[in-house]
Amino acid sequence: MSQDRSGRVAIVLGTRPEIVKLAGLVRLLGERSWVVHTGQHYDAELSDVFFAQFGLQPPLDALDVGGRTRGAQIGEATARLDALFTDERPAAVVVQGDTNSALAGALAANAGGIALVHVEAGLRSHDRAMPEEHNRVLVDHVADLCLAPTATSRANLAAEGIPDERIAVTGNTVVEAVQQLLPDPDERRDLLDSHGVARNGFVLSTFHRPENVDDAERLATILGQLGALPVPVVLPVHPRLAARVEGFGLRPRLDALHAVPPLGYREFLGLFAEAALAVSDSGGVQEEASVVKRPVVVVRRSTERPEVLGTFSELVAVGPDIGVASERWLDDPVAVHERLAAVPSPYGDGRASELALDAMAQRQLIKQRLLPEE
Ligand code: UDP
Repeated sequence: MSQDRSGRVAIVLGTRPEIVKLAGLVRLLGERSWVVHTGQHYDAELSDVFFAQFGLQPPLDALDVGGRTRGAQIGEATARLDALFTDERPAAVVVQGDTNSALAGALAANAGGIALVHVEAGLRSHDRAMPEEHNRVLVDHVADLCLAPTATSRANLAAEGIPDERIAVTGNTVVEAVQQLLPDPDERRDLLDSHGVARNGFVLSTFHRPENVDDAERLATILGQLGALPVPVVLPVHPRLAARVEGFGLRPRLDALHAVPPLGYREFLGLFAEAALAVSDSGGVQEEASVVKRPVVVVRRSTERPEVLGTFSELVAVGPDIGVASERWLDDPVAVHERLAAVPSPYGDGRASELALDAMAQRQLIKQRLLPEE
């Protein structure tokens, strides 16, 4: 592929969920996209494997802003992106979600007077203690086009005074990501065997949010609650969680769990679709629950995904409620799954990336509706 970047749509990403949720757009844009990885979480397990599984080319540019404080990461990434965009000016910049990389991409686009598109705009936890909340609010307010996944997120944007012409509701691009990579039943059976668990007979768990893992007591409580559940718990260990478990001397708490390295997206989805339940503080897992039709106990102070509360998700605080809520869901998992199978995902039907391109074309951020390249 030609390496000339000018005039392409720059897709700025830096973490696992951004790759998942931008993969569809990158595929539809083909050679008209220019993927820049900021290096916020550059690690084969959190990055390379995701590019490979989605069939994407490696990023054209890979920066190296990982392992710094939040301020230094945002500052460094903004400066590096500004230099890149000054050298070769993109037609538009696309960022996704609420990471430091998304904010840096937004600021660099703004500094260069380049049109900015925010995928997954308008989510609000209303929790000002979360760095992600500040990132998403800031990005939405500088974006020229806010792609809101649902009517709820559109209403959040409108309530902050963002005019209607800067908003389009598309659904969430995670739906097509799941549709693309969810393994078939045979591959799922192999996955269950390789993890030594049975269909509907285990819990899949992930934890990485600072509010949970950066506090020794909270983390000890979470791991204790998971270890006391009546079924096996598969816990892919995010690098941040691994560091905190070591730092707080909590390694023995993992003994009661099936702790594994971070999983590729296929493997994670395959297990999720076969699990009785997920217990997690992840954002994306709440949305994926509505596609694989499995419930998720969300262990957080707040959620920016209210659309699935009361159907696919239940919000609980750190403490005994983790066990109480999980055991209630585990009482009759098959009945729960049958009920959830009939509930449509509030995040759409898997056309969000296409609708995103339509909205960009309508506003002349790209020349025309772009069809997938052969
Ligand atoms: N995920 C994965 N492998 C794992 C754990 C999670 O592929 O071992 C996926 C998960 O399906 C979701 C995304 O990673 O799509 C979530 O990433 P993370 O929890 O890091 O971020 P958040 O969604 O909370 O921003």
